[in-house]
Parts: sequence; C-alpha cells; structure tokens
Amino acid sequence: MAPRQLLLNPGPVVLSDRVREALAQGDCCHREAEFADLTREVLERLQTVYEAPGYVAIMISGSGTSAVEAMLASLAPALSKTLVVANGVYGERMASMLEAHGKPMSMMTGNWLDPIDIEAVANRLRGDDDITHVATVHHETTTGRLNDIESLDGVCRELGRHLLLDAVSSFGAESLNFERSSVAALAGTANKCLHGAPGVSFVMADRKRMQHNRERIASVYLDLYRYFDPQQASGFSPFTPAVHAAFALREALEELADAGGWRSRRKTYRSRMSDISSTLDDAGVAPLLPAGESSSVLRTWRLPAGTDYATLHDALKKQQIVIYSGQGSLASEVFRISCMGDIRDSEMERIRTALTGQLGGTAP
Ligand SMILES: *Cc1c(COP(=O)(O)O)cnc(C)c1O
Repeated sequence: MAPRQLLLNPGPVVLSDRVREALAQGDCCHREAEFADLTREVLERLQTVYEAPGYVAIMISGSGTSAVEAMLASLAPALSKTLVVANGVYGERMASMLEAHGKPMSMMTGNWLDPIDIEAVANRLRGDDDITHVATVHHETTTGRLNDIESLDGVCRELGRHLLLDAVSSFGAESLNFERSSVAALAGTANKCLHGAPGVSFVMADRKRMQHNRERIASVYLDLYRYFDPQQASGFSPFTPAVHAAFALREALEELADAGGWRSRRKTYRSRMSDISSTLDDAGVAPLLPAGESSSVLRTWRLPAGTDYATLHDALKKQQIVIYSGQGSLASEVFRISCMGDIRDSEMERIRTALTGQLGGTAP
C-alpha cells in the first residue's frame, strides 16, 4: 500500500480515522432537531477548550478567513477606530477587511521578521483616544511567530481598549487567557489545531458584548448576530451549514478532550517540531526565527543556497510529504513546515528521513 500523504502545510490537516468516519456518518437535514443538538454540542465544546466562562461561541460555515471577517464586520466599531498591529500577511489582511467594510482604522506594521513592539503600541494608544479596539494575529503563520498577546492584553487592559484576535492557527494548541482579559472576540477554524475538516469556523466573543452592542453591519452572510441569536435560542443557523464538517468538528473536539486538551496537543506539536528542527539543524538549514519566538504549530526555515522551493517541494511530494512555501517577499527565500494533524510516530521517522535525503545531514 502506498504511504499516506502527510500534509505539513498549515491546514487542512491529515484527519484521524475517527474524524474521517464522522464526515461520512450519514446525511442530515440542518432544520431537524438532531442538527440543532449537534450545533449546541459543538458550541459547548468550543467554549470549554479553554476556560472561558464569559465567552460564547458562534459557528459559521466558511474557511478561517470568513470567521475573521465576520468578527471584524460585526464587532469592530463603526464610530471609533480599530488599530491593526500587523507583522505578516494575516495581520495585513485584517486591515484590508476593515477597509472593505468601511470601518475607521489605523495600522502599525513593521518588518515581518520583528516581534510586535508593545511599547510603541502602548504609546500609540495613549496618544489617540479615538482608538477603542486593537486587532492582531495570535500566531502569525506567515513566519511562524507566536505574537506576545499576553503583553498586548496587559496594555489593552491598562488603557481600557478591546482586543480582536485572529487565532485561526493557534486555537486548540497555544495558550489563550480569557480570564479578566481585554479580548472582545477571537476567530478560529475547524481544520487547523483542532484537527477537523475544512468548512466550518467560529468566533468566540464576549457574551455581554454580543447581548448589548449592535454595530451597523455591512454584510448579510458575515453578520454574526444572525447566527448568534438562533444558535443561542435553539441551535439553528440561518443558512445551510457545512453539515458534514460540523459532524467532523464535533468528533475532533471530543478527540482533543480525550487526548488531554490543548496543553497536551501543544506538547505533541513541540515534540514533533523539535524532531524536525534537529533534523534540519543537522542538515545545516537555518530557521528564520529563534525557537523561543516560534509557535509550537509551524516554523519557517531559510532555503539553503542553491535549493529552490519548487525542487524541494516536488522531491518531497514524490515521497507523499507536502511542505509549504513562503508568502509575499519571503516566497523565494523560505519554506514552512507545520506539524498539525494526525501524524503517527512512524510517519515522523519517514518525514525526518525524507528531509535528510533532500537536504543532507545524518539520517535519524
Ligand atoms: C490559515 C489562516 C487564516 C485563513 O484561514 P483560511 O481557512 O485559509 O481562510 C487566517 N489567519 C491565520 C493566522 C491563518 O493561519
């Protein structure tokens, strides 16, 4: 039998057998009580991945981008400014979304290789009372940097501002603190660290804010309140949900809980990443960021001199291993490897042997 194709791209991920089986468990009308029950269970499970008693999950159908855009379209204020703090593609995309929805905003963008300058953000907030919200990315998948949300949250709390987070590539595997936090909402997706199938995504929002603040929303499909109201009342959604993907997400959330929750998932990722890092170290391939600044989910390495991405990618693809290119100005300089999904120990060996075969070093 041919070996399984291993997806080391940042989503979609290799599904476990039990999640794949959930996808095929049968057809279901989304207006029947069974599906409302399923939706309520998914929302409940999302709300308990972290300790987040004051937050409510809202499920929508669409990729992670749709959840980020729904969050900004519905919760970024129309009458005050949102400050976008960007150090990669996804932060910059949040700014494009605010612009597309005609929301007042300003932007702080730096070099993609640099961490967020927390002091500079604090100064900007102190100097501009019009800014009530800060939008940023938790794990900036462009470089694999885990942004220091804890410090940013501290600044926002101190200065009375609200955070809107893209947690699409971190929810389920990195630390998120909801207790007394400035987080107004965050966006996540089924098919990254949660190991579900693509098609459903979600927003976790401060429950009180959802009940009281209603912005003017320049979208129908991305209006979170259209989902929040019926999902809370009865478990129903306004438009046809990705039914099969919702079944898969339920199973994936149960699997995550069975395996010990987000902490144990982070531990698994860290162990995989440290194996891959030492293999690449051994081959003399340099990481883009220091290990301490990288997420547990994905890392970026510089392409060695004389190796182009397409050649490396194609050679690994022939061995059923899919890596990921860099984006924007990094496209010709780097490659990325994510360690999400159902990867078995024997498959980790296969990955390390293949990397050594292409890039050098001693086989594991
Ligand atoms: C993957 C990703 C997205 C976009 O998700 P899609 O499912 O491709 O729409 C948004 N933000 C971050 C940080 C991501 O890693």
